Amino acid sequence: MQAFAVGKEYARQRLLDFVGSRQAQSGVLWGPKEPGCIICTSGGRHGKKAGYSDESLPDGSWWYFGQGMNGDQQLTNSANSKLASRQLSVLLFTTREPTAKEVAAQGGYGKLFGYRGLFNVANHEPYIPATGIRAGNHLVRFRLVPAEEGEEARDDENTLPHGLGPNGLQEWLRVATSQPVPVGLALVQYYQRCAQIRRYAKLRAHGICEGCGTQAPFTAQDGSPFLEVHHLVRLADDGPDTPENVAALCPNCHRRVHHGSDRLEFNAGIVRSILAKEDGLR
Ligand SMILES: [Zn+2]
Repeated sequence: MQAFAVGKEYARQRLLDFVGSRQAQSGVLWGPKEPGCIICTSGGRHGKKAGYSDESLPDGSWWYFGQGMNGDQQLTNSANSKLASRQLSVLLFTTREPTAKEVAAQGGYGKLFGYRGLFNVANHEPYIPATGIRAGNHLVRFRLVPAEEGEEARDDENTLPHGLGPNGLQEWLRVATSQPVPVGLALVQYYQRCAQIRRYAKLRAHGICEGCGTQAPFTAQDGSPFLEVHHLVRLADDGPDTPENVAALCPNCHRRVHHGSDRLEFNAGIVRSILAKEDGLR
């Protein structure tokens, strides 16, 4: 995902163009051009007087508050429900007022959006401010965790857990990911789940690319067939999820599904074949 550079600032129009959206006011943006992502802008909608605010945490994750300017925040709100689904990659931006000089240079007033990186939504929890203009309101805050972009995690294990037959694969995954993601989770736990999903996809593929159906082009250093795990829903190939949302692909298919002119159609085809494959495994 090279569209934005971490630390660089962009005009709102650039964000809207990226996803193909015309949302004029909202702090959360999405659109048909990049269906696997959602843009969250932080700041610029409430100050300390509101009794709550988005914040970055020491471990690199963020608390990001839901949408809803008055009263309780609802998960049925379209932006909040997209975040709560935990299915989309979050592009997080912080908002800054332009200086007088910048207004002059831009030829008009326009907030600046600093890119903070690609995140996943780990979970969400209720939050009731004790003070401020939102005191007593039932708000929702989402835990955003940094996505591991691009490169596959190096520590993935590619072999079946000991003593499990091929039919034990589903059962192993069910046990491995059955616990709900706890609200106060440690990031390490979260990343373990991501790794389990990647491992599952590779085991399911059995050395055959789930995009083009041909054999993995070479063997990895650990002796396993080299395939990369693609996330069928998100923008980034990272995040704990369900077996239906991941595919193990050869590097060629993986490039195509991210960068090809037919990437959306190609992805949709893989979605169909993975669904059929998972049905067959049940
Ligand atoms: Zn392939």
